[in-house]
Amino acid sequence: MKEFKDIVAHAKEYGFIFPSSEIYDGLQAVYDYGQNGVELKNNLKQAWWKAMNQLHDNIVGIDSAIFMHPTIWKASGHIDSFNDPMIDNKDSKKRYRADNLIEDRASEYEAKGDFTKSETLLAEMNRLLEASDLKGLQELIISENITCPVSKTANWTEVRQFNLMFSTQVGSVAEDSTTLYLRPETAQGIFVNFLNVQKTGRMKVPFGIAQIGKAFRNEIVARQFIFRMREFEQMEMQYFVRPGTELQWYEYWKTTRFRFHKALGLPEEDLKFHVHEKLAHYANAAVDIEYRFPFGFKEMEGIHSRTDFDLKSHQEYSKKKQQYFDNDLDENGKAYGNYVPFVVETSVGADRLFLAVLCNAFTQESVQDGDQVKDRTYLNLHPALAPVKVAICPIVKKDGLAELGTRIYKELKSEFMATYDEKDSIGKRYTRQDLIGTPYCVAIDYQTIEDQTVTIRHRNSTQQERVTLEELKTILRETTSLSTLLNSM
Ligand code: ATP
Repeated sequence: MKEFKDIVAHAKEYGFIFPSSEIYDGLQAVYDYGQNGVELKNNLKQAWWKAMNQLHDNIVGIDSAIFMHPTIWKASGHIDSFNDPMIDNKDSKKRYRADNLIEDRASEYEAKGDFTKSETLLAEMNRLLEASDLKGLQELIISENITCPVSKTANWTEVRQFNLMFSTQVGSVAEDSTTLYLRPETAQGIFVNFLNVQKTGRMKVPFGIAQIGKAFRNEIVARQFIFRMREFEQMEMQYFVRPGTELQWYEYWKTTRFRFHKALGLPEEDLKFHVHEKLAHYANAAVDIEYRFPFGFKEMEGIHSRTDFDLKSHQEYSKKKQQYFDNDLDENGKAYGNYVPFVVETSVGADRLFLAVLCNAFTQESVQDGDQVKDRTYLNLHPALAPVKVAICPIVKKDGLAELGTRIYKELKSEFMATYDEKDSIGKRYTRQDLIGTPYCVAIDYQTIEDQTVTIRHRNSTQQERVTLEELKTILRETTSLSTLLNSM
């Protein structure tokens, strides 16, 4: 049984993730990626980027600025409705999301086997949320006798809507300053560049624009490590299609994205679709791809058929036409002509994907070592995602083995992320690499001097085999490149 706390501790101890500003006691819901974390995250981002832009002839990437014209957030609906209902406990001064408090109570009912009570409670909560009935939400919290986990009292304030966008001021003089928002999603940077890309790239509908970038949300309830952060990274792709074809494309992206997660090594039984019953006002279909985190199945990626809501809204606010001229012919032989395209969006958090991949890779097993049983921990990462692909380890430093090892390491490192390690016993060095998920360790011994062969040790099986240097390179090329991963999609 994988314990989430062990995974969090492992991430810190082996240089994957550190709490932000740790020497100042940290900053809640903000994290830094360490030397191994950044490699794994970059590999994931590269895999996504290639799966979008390289595998699809009609998808291109952009990198838009985090700061955008403030009216964009009016047009997108974020200023008016990107809110969470919050409630404060007057005794502990702690703030909670009202819906989370109620959901936790429903989970308690479920844990006791009272599914009807749980369902009724959640249905009532959804009704109140949909009606924006904040008073009703407060009454529900009180009638359920929900207490603050810290003060243990039910001394609650009213429920208020709390906007999740961070704002900041630009301009040197206070009177002239303008409020800007840190983008809460990367998608709007794509929408407002739709025509720039379409025209300069001579793109024909259907086509997509992909982007990876930071997004910021003032999440009140920051829980579960990097699952919910205030500063995080999104990988979003907006696919512009002819109106009426959007549901077909929605199905295509559902399947394609699911295959991507499987290709990363996430087992099918730990992935599932969660179809949204209650749709956002702009969507005509929406589904999440959920992963079975140690704390349950939770959203990792959202796929939304967003209609023409965003482009139409930008057209209205900017007073600039956001139309596309389609000269393909319809069944009557007439050009489709001008229209505002519909959009199917795929949106996945790089950090949440990282967490899913890390949780999946974290492996603890007991192995027989002679007549002893030993515990072993390793990261079962896809070789193309592993931070380090190969470690070169001379069995001893003397007799020219260190020099030979260094020469082989130098020969490999321009092509593969390699490391050289000559410290401690060979067993300890293997363990160090297992803990960060390095798929191969290569031992350099006396035979290497004679015939240029090395022993390659495989991380998962711990099996060793003798290969030539050329064979070693072939194994590395065939298994550690992202194209191997993408070809398995
Ligand atoms: P949630 O319901 O968990 O708050 P959401 O439905 O608001 O997520 P979207 O707005 O659809 O999320 O964002 C798309 C993706 O961005 C999510 O599937 C998730 O992977 C990621 N994401 C959203 N919020 C956060 C966050 N605070 N921290 C890390 N990743 C996030």
